[in-house]
Amino acid sequence: MSETSGATDSALFDSVIKEYRPDLRPYEELYKHCHANGELSTQEKETAALITERLKKLSSDLDVRTSIGGHGQIAILKNGSGPTILLRADIDALPVQEKTGLDYASKKTMLDTDGLTKPVMHACGHDFHITSLLGAAETLIAARSKWSGTIIFLFQPAEERGCGASAMVDDGLYAKDKHACPIPDVVLGQHVFPLKAGQTATRAGSIMSAADSFKITIYGSGGHGSMPHKTIDPVVIASHIVVRLQTIVSREVPPDETAVVTVGALQAGSTENVIADEAVIKINIRSVSTEWRKRILDSVKRIIKAECLAGRSPKDALIEPTSSFPLTVNDEKVVGKINKSFSAYFGDAHDPDAKNVLGSEDFSLLASSIDRPYCFWFFGGHDVEYYDGMVKKGEEHSIPVNHSPFFAPALQPTLTVGVDAMVVAALTYVGKKE
Ligand SMILES: [Zn+2]
Ligand SMILES: [Zn+2]
Repeated sequence: MSETSGATDSALFDSVIKEYRPDLRPYEELYKHCHANGELSTQEKETAALITERLKKLSSDLDVRTSIGGHGQIAILKNGSGPTILLRADIDALPVQEKTGLDYASKKTMLDTDGLTKPVMHACGHDFHITSLLGAAETLIAARSKWSGTIIFLFQPAEERGCGASAMVDDGLYAKDKHACPIPDVVLGQHVFPLKAGQTATRAGSIMSAADSFKITIYGSGGHGSMPHKTIDPVVIASHIVVRLQTIVSREVPPDETAVVTVGALQAGSTENVIADEAVIKINIRSVSTEWRKRILDSVKRIIKAECLAGRSPKDALIEPTSSFPLTVNDEKVVGKINKSFSAYFGDAHDPDAKNVLGSEDFSLLASSIDRPYCFWFFGGHDVEYYDGMVKKGEEHSIPVNHSPFFAPALQPTLTVGVDAMVVAALTYVGKKE
């Protein structure tokens, strides 16, 4: 990567955005369309087609490659020598029944991969990510005289299930004989977040947690409720497991380390007088360091094994991973540059040392799979007056967060900030010094 390229002062950002950022009203319409027409993870067919169509309309110089790991795609823009950077947006929606009351609220339902018909809502704001990245692409295409290098615009499916980034990588995103995406020097991504609209935030080091989910089947031996001595009751074993799992965070993890172990489901039996022959537990683990991620997973396995042994379970419990999100650990050098740029452009609205978040993302796999550094940041979506009003009333906890059926980010200035943040981050690496 050449040290002479890239800019972190606001002169270039201001002039590029003032001169080349398009009128965003068509993007507001696009946002509303995306919001009303979200698609569930791994089924983002129409969303992907819409993005492809938009990319192709933007410029014939964009090298668009589709159907990567399902409905993923990239658009490569080569513009002279210089660094190669990758800008990422995720595109999937969630099985949530929208309750925002917005005039562009989603009324959509869809058959999910489990065979059930579900409501669909962009409750995580990925519709902002799609429109922001397309708006940034249009800006950067128009501003080609102001930068030099290669930019990859990447649209990723299935983030919510934690399988989209890995599907793209496993499908040969970076493989020379497959999709041959140029290897980026740095990978950049963003997420709309329940901060005030206009604000941006990131931090060096760990910014989002790892999340590991498991389905655990505990085996017993069923029978008549009146003859417990002739059965092995998996309900009792499972109950002990649930209680002892609580001691991982309270007795094993140091108080200054962040971790969560949640038993989200406990299922067994169907009636009073029958002892079930198996029980199922579903657990979700959040951790913010590689060391404690491993230690917590080891503890969970140890506790399950020991309680099954204590309860005379006839065979080992079956532990099946259901989803796994990696840690998101921002590279210090990259964050240093992004912080400098964002503080220059957004001023005090940028928080360079945000709190670690216990949500999870699979974004980092697009960089870690090729051993490249990355930075992920947040941009706020809540109407400022509404947000301040809720804080004043002491009701900050009721402000809807991502995945809530009431999550309704203000269209503006959220969209403008989403576009600007991507443009400023890109110019930080490929911009020509003014
Ligand atoms: Zn989400
Ligand atoms: Zn999300």
